[in-house]
Amino acid sequence: MIDNNKLNHFAELAIKVGVNLQKDQFLVVNCPVECAYIARIIVEQAYKAGAGQVFVNWRDDVLSRLNMQYASEDVLKDIPQWQIDKNDYYIKKGVALISVAASDPAVFAGLDAAKIRRVSTASAQAQKNFHNATMSNVLRWCVVSVPTSKWAQKVFPDCNESEAVDKLWEAIATIMRLDKDDPTKAWQDHCDNLSDRAEFLNNNAFKAIHLKNAKGTDVTIGLPDNHVWLAAKEKAQDGVEFLANIPTEEVFTAPHRLTANGRVVNALPLCENGEIIDDFFIEFKDGRIVDFGAKQGYETLKGLIETDEGTHYLGEIALVSKQSPIAKQNRLFFNTLFDENASCHLAIGKGYPSCVKDYLQLDEKQLFERGVNNSVEHVDFMIGTPDMFVEGIKKDGTHVTIFENGDWVK
Ligand code: ZN
Ligand code: ZN
Repeated sequence: MIDNNKLNHFAELAIKVGVNLQKDQFLVVNCPVECAYIARIIVEQAYKAGAGQVFVNWRDDVLSRLNMQYASEDVLKDIPQWQIDKNDYYIKKGVALISVAASDPAVFAGLDAAKIRRVSTASAQAQKNFHNATMSNVLRWCVVSVPTSKWAQKVFPDCNESEAVDKLWEAIATIMRLDKDDPTKAWQDHCDNLSDRAEFLNNNAFKAIHLKNAKGTDVTIGLPDNHVWLAAKEKAQDGVEFLANIPTEEVFTAPHRLTANGRVVNALPLCENGEIIDDFFIEFKDGRIVDFGAKQGYETLKGLIETDEGTHYLGEIALVSKQSPIAKQNRLFFNTLFDENASCHLAIGKGYPSCVKDYLQLDEKQLFERGVNNSVEHVDFMIGTPDMFVEGIKKDGTHVTIFENGDWVK
């Protein structure tokens, strides 16, 4: 079992490095009931760090599944006004938001995939304001993960429940650098490294990025004028820095939504609403998805791509070295927070507004005209392999190699 010292470091990282909680600020913690212990530690540490008030929203996979199974689609799609009001209250209060992401990857397995998709779209629509507030950094937010037994056993299927949880904690502790003498300092150093990579890409101001590997990915993705590569820490709209994901290993930006051409083939399975999509490809022409296929989870992939117009276009391109401590674990975590940090990835759906300069001066329409995609969804899928080749193409046509054999060249 993970010791208390590491759990305290974990909470401290989420509060001080993650959301960078300020004195008297309100904090919202989303947490599965199964991991109540970590919510309690976070709440205590948050108050010790000066939180004004801390709210906890509990989630329970078992209840979510029962609702999805038995309640009618109409009922589930009718999101109560009080839930929307609650979100508006959070925005008004300028809360910081810590989400403990630890869902059972198979929570909805075997249920009606189309119903799940429509319900989740309705819920995303109703929560659009709140989603936008996090995506455009009005609020400071941070996603972390702790093991649940179902999740741990999915990752370590040969272990019994308690062994699996211990093993997953061990992996997370390594990935989150909780075994370092000073995990907070280790994260500051790591963030500085990633920022240097982002600076290198920004200084080059590439017109497009070309990705290619033996698996069949061969795609050129254009970038908006004045795009910004981001890594690790970001500035919220109040000017305070925060780290949206712990762990994070990626350097990412928003593609120009009308410029992707070519084919991408997944490198890791995509776990979407508890369903696995694997052995899939997506083909783009002038940014739009023109063809796709999957040996596993085709209907789920189709549902995802057909969510709205925006899910037919890319919203993110992210570079991750194969040297990432998550890649080195060499296993699928069935959890985007970890899997997306193991491998270069793309996302279909909404692009992050902060990936273009002066985004604060641009409204939704102007951002869209600049090329930043819009959608109710943002779903990452992994394409990076150990042989990944990535090059940047400059405005004058020169090519600069960025990745060779899955790693940064400099
Ligand atoms: Zn990403
Ligand atoms: Zn993403």
